Amino acid sequence: MAEYKNAGADDVLSEAKTYIHNQESLDLISRAANYAAEAHAGQFRRSGEPYTSHLYNVAYILATLRVGPKTIAAGLLHDTIEDTGISREELAKLFDEEIADLVESVTKIGALKFKGKDDPEYQAANHRKIFIAMARDVRVILIKLADRLHNMRTLEYQPEASQKRIASETLDVYAPIAHRLGISAIKNELEDLSFYYLNRKEYYRIAHLVENKKQERDESVQKMISEISEMLREHDIEFRIFGRSKHLYSIYHKMVARNKRFEEILDLLAIRIVTKTELNCYEVLGYIHAKYKPIPGRLKDYIAMPKTNMYQSLHTTIMADEGKIFEVQIRTEEMDAIAERGVAAHWRYKEGGHYDARTEQKEIEDKLSWFRDFAVFTSDSEDESASEYMATLQRDVFEANVYVMTPKGRVIDLPNGATPIDFAYRIHTDVGHTAVGAIVNDAMVPLNTELHTGDVVSIRTMKGTGPSEDWLKFVKTNQAKNKIRAWFAKRETEKRESMVDQGEKVLTDELKKRGFDPKAYMEKKKIEAIMKEFSARDYTDLMYGLAVKTINPTAVCEKLTNQKRSVNGDEELTRRLTSRETAKKHVMTKAGIIVPGIESIKLSLAQCCLPVYGDPIIGYVTKGEGVKVHRRNCSNVTAENARLIECRWDEEDRERLYDSDLVIIAEDRNFLLTDIVTSVSQTRAPMLKVSASVNRSDLTTTIKMKIQIHNVEQLEVLLANLRKVEGVLSVNRVLH
Ligand code: MN
Repeated sequence: MAEYKNAGADDVLSEAKTYIHNQESLDLISRAANYAAEAHAGQFRRSGEPYTSHLYNVAYILATLRVGPKTIAAGLLHDTIEDTGISREELAKLFDEEIADLVESVTKIGALKFKGKDDPEYQAANHRKIFIAMARDVRVILIKLADRLHNMRTLEYQPEASQKRIASETLDVYAPIAHRLGISAIKNELEDLSFYYLNRKEYYRIAHLVENKKQERDESVQKMISEISEMLREHDIEFRIFGRSKHLYSIYHKMVARNKRFEEILDLLAIRIVTKTELNCYEVLGYIHAKYKPIPGRLKDYIAMPKTNMYQSLHTTIMADEGKIFEVQIRTEEMDAIAERGVAAHWRYKEGGHYDARTEQKEIEDKLSWFRDFAVFTSDSEDESASEYMATLQRDVFEANVYVMTPKGRVIDLPNGATPIDFAYRIHTDVGHTAVGAIVNDAMVPLNTELHTGDVVSIRTMKGTGPSEDWLKFVKTNQAKNKIRAWFAKRETEKRESMVDQGEKVLTDELKKRGFDPKAYMEKKKIEAIMKEFSARDYTDLMYGLAVKTINPTAVCEKLTNQKRSVNGDEELTRRLTSRETAKKHVMTKAGIIVPGIESIKLSLAQCCLPVYGDPIIGYVTKGEGVKVHRRNCSNVTAENARLIECRWDEEDRERLYDSDLVIIAEDRNFLLTDIVTSVSQTRAPMLKVSASVNRSDLTTTIKMKIQIHNVEQLEVLLANLRKVEGVLSVNRVLH
């Protein structure tokens, strides 16, 4: 395991002094250290050390990243709100708002409870996003990374189960964030520590392999270093050169991910050359390629094309004597600092005579906007394919989430613009249904308030209440929408069911009136077999239609008792039909209807039932007005069997529009008509007429409309959509 310094208060200060010279800033750090020591007095770590040792180490790690004095101070104070009960306000008074904000944000992130790896909802990528979204300020992330690094260094004092959980969270959430911020020093150490706790056997196996080869490798690297040094000196280039070793986890990762044997991992022998200018980098590359054989396809110019985490360098792989292969990295000092300390280096604390907090804040804001853009990139691996990368990018851009918390710290992710109602339904369906109020960050807010990342949300409920239809206007999640609709649909079904008895009575009476024995026909199966003819969804729907008189009981009765409407009686007509059938001549009239075997006949659509293309139809031979075409279930044609004639729709005539009359019964409410008209227009059916009247007795509204439609399928869609409109109780085609 890598060696590390166990820092004390003095080390923090002396490290800070290497780049902070302003006495006021150094005093701030001392004051924070003293305050933290007092506040945590008497508290100990599991290791037995005083709690302050953790704080000094976190602050020391931050100082090695060259962060500003306030960030170091916040690092020293990072556990005071959590562990010593001091409030954010007190911190703000004792130090300043900025430091108090940093400590508070660190505390908030610490309160996040992520789902464990064994939970089916576990998603490491999500955790990283939540983490970054919650942090808002990159300094908060730096403090959390330093905090986690020290906790990982002292993980041996935790019970074994916690070790595994913390190590896997570190590997999945913290190390990738460190990588994304370009802080390779922290990323590598976090990865190796996690590796050790998660897979000790492999850790030792690779450690031994590396150790066995160490001497041999060191000799080769030293030989190469002196060769290159000599060459570069001849060309008068300023440089530093050193060998470097890959950290164990990256070797393991390459062996597993690329399925390579230890010996095959090319860049085990690695050399880094740090020089002055960008131009020097390319010069050095040129000299090296002239002397050694470069391996094709391994040259990477991250100077011209920096990685998203700001990493810049030239990479090449060359073959030296005896076929030894070296990976060479060439970069400037500036690039090297960024490679080690990433965003922290980019944001390196700068001292100057004209220091002022507002300028620093402005600079931080600028960097933050850069950081925000950059935070949407989830490409953690160079191996990720372009399409996968685009897919994740799109998910991040188009499904931007907000992350809010329950008072107990459970993170709930919601789409942008989500409200407390969305939150409530995410917690539990019943919490949603019975929600009456919302408390966001200790304040009562309206239920349509837009939630923001970091909000702590709780919901007031009241038993026996139900959702409001208004909620549908502002909820953002489909889950909430569906649950609310389901609640109303259930209530509507209950209402319909309560009218089934009445509908059954109507039908029974009709059967009796016509001399049928109701017992023989009032069977659910028999009735269900004919309900489609009446556009009823189910038995309940049919009975409801009969009860509210939108379905004609006579027609149902006839269908049910199977009274056939056959073509007979009219001798003249029969003769014409049979004699001409074989001639296959037929009439195509304006109605788009074919009467098989008849060449010329006056045809029109009956106004009582207005058949549309696709309806089962039957012709009725009138006296002097040709054939009127009715829907087969139209009650007006039933008694006149002798005059009926078979006809069918002309399949080639599909563009025609047919009139259709609809009757809608709905609960009276504001904007009902608007919503209905909108629904119709979505089906693109022209509307010719619409009228509405309120039934004062039961506060329902009856809406009658005449529309135009191409065919019965389109009509079914339109009817189905209308039935979904809020408050609509029934929708039926009119049979006069
Ligand atoms: Mn801590």
